[in-house]
Amino acid sequence: MRTRRRLPQHFFCSPSALGEISVLWADLAFARFDAVKIHSASMTTALRTWWLVQIAFALILVVSGGAQTPGQTPPSAMTMMGAPQSSALDRQNFPPLLLQQLSAVKAAALNDDYAYRELTHLTENIGPRATGSPQARAAAEYVGDELHKLGLEVRLEPLTVAHWVRGAETGALVEYPGMVAGTTQKVVLTALGGSAATPAEGITAELVTVNTFEELQALGHDKVAGKIVLFNEMFDKQKAAAGMGFAAYSEAVRYRGAGAKAAADLGAVAALVRSVGNADYRLPHTGFSFPAGIPAGAVTAEDADLMAHLSAQGKVRMHLVLTPQKLPDETGFNVIADLKGTEHPEQVVVVSGHLDSWDLGTGAIDDGAGVVIAMEAAEILQRLHLHPARTLRVIAWMDEETGGAGSKAYTTEYANDFAHYVAAIESDSGAAHPLGFSVKGTAGAIDALRPVQSVLQSVGATVLEATSYAPGADIASMADAGVPAFGVMQDSRTYFNYHHTAADTLDKVVPVELRENAAAMAVMAYALTNMKDPLPR
Ligand SMILES: [Zn+2]
Repeated sequence: MRTRRRLPQHFFCSPSALGEISVLWADLAFARFDAVKIHSASMTTALRTWWLVQIAFALILVVSGGAQTPGQTPPSAMTMMGAPQSSALDRQNFPPLLLQQLSAVKAAALNDDYAYRELTHLTENIGPRATGSPQARAAAEYVGDELHKLGLEVRLEPLTVAHWVRGAETGALVEYPGMVAGTTQKVVLTALGGSAATPAEGITAELVTVNTFEELQALGHDKVAGKIVLFNEMFDKQKAAAGMGFAAYSEAVRYRGAGAKAAADLGAVAALVRSVGNADYRLPHTGFSFPAGIPAGAVTAEDADLMAHLSAQGKVRMHLVLTPQKLPDETGFNVIADLKGTEHPEQVVVVSGHLDSWDLGTGAIDDGAGVVIAMEAAEILQRLHLHPARTLRVIAWMDEETGGAGSKAYTTEYANDFAHYVAAIESDSGAAHPLGFSVKGTAGAIDALRPVQSVLQSVGATVLEATSYAPGADIASMADAGVPAFGVMQDSRTYFNYHHTAADTLDKVVPVELRENAAAMAVMAYALTNMKDPLPR
């Protein structure tokens, strides 16, 4: 299983298909933001174990004549293995008072909807928070004010961000085998972030459909130049349904990131990708695409099927209008709020999510949820009058989705302090039931957190899965500097139904599951600020 936990090799563009530069681009694009959140293998392990546990329980219940309580929280992998044995080290790092406080933190999270109320404001009152937008700025000011009200030391740190805005976006098939005279077929699509524009009246060109970069290369310049290329890579729904949503995503998303450049290099006039994800209500999925000087969009899975089927029968021509604009750069803000440590203020534990979202939905699962559970970690400590021994730092990151300007600016400003950071946590995989954490850290660090697993056992969030990659795009530079890094590991089975679509809205967040996420974040954060020794590196 070890090797499967690494980024799949095909996650990066094939060198043979795209050349060295594209490999580098893929690395830059995906290793730094968005798609880096690949804890699929972890999810697999956890979910597989969970199902085995469920089956085992069911068998036991059948034999014993018992009945399962409907709606109970699924036990995690660790639950079935029993509570970790308490060692002398555990007792030294987690004395009885701290364990009681951690239980109180958990109970406070499970019995309050602070995070949900904050998420409601971010998504419904403020709305989509695309990088560079007025809403992104308002969201930063709002989150800063809310954290200030809690008594934290707040600063909004300015940074320069790109400002790309969506325009008109329509598509239609205007020639295809069997077409009824005087009709066309509508294509539901959306522009990808960074896309260039067509003229206002659009372009009309022949469609060429490929499944892979290799197929595109095989066609060559002569068969691609002047045409609209559709990359029809399928999202693996079965994989997502089995809990490996991020693995399925990583396989498909490379076409979204690098497809336009590959098509442009062969003279294509526009590039389209099959929407990445398992949405099946004809919803297009946006996301960042490396600017390639040609219009780039995503068509829905249903329309990709239609276009592929008709292309297989004969000549298809398409009319495409995409008129996004790249506006002048804007000022964005990272929100940074400290609850100063009483004993070691220079030792920092970061809790974070990213405040920017895509513009189609309201960014509830990606990633308003991550921001509000980080806020709640601080809110609970203040509510319970618990004093962190080390500094708890809440960060709402700007620009995770289109280049990671927020994380880069933070690294430039604070990299010299990373030696004193005890840990960094980011939640950016949705708001579904938390299974535990992906951890980039030493075996000793994971071992030292066994008492936290015990506290989180009743939430079902006991998994601490070692990863070789940073388990959060915005905390990657800290992880690279040796700071133990944690990503909240949510159930990913339905995440890509909504991710980056117009359906990423508040109703997709289940309040009870958001409470569980707040509990996981707050318990882990307080454990890290108050365990006797900092985590070994
Ligand atoms: Zn995100």
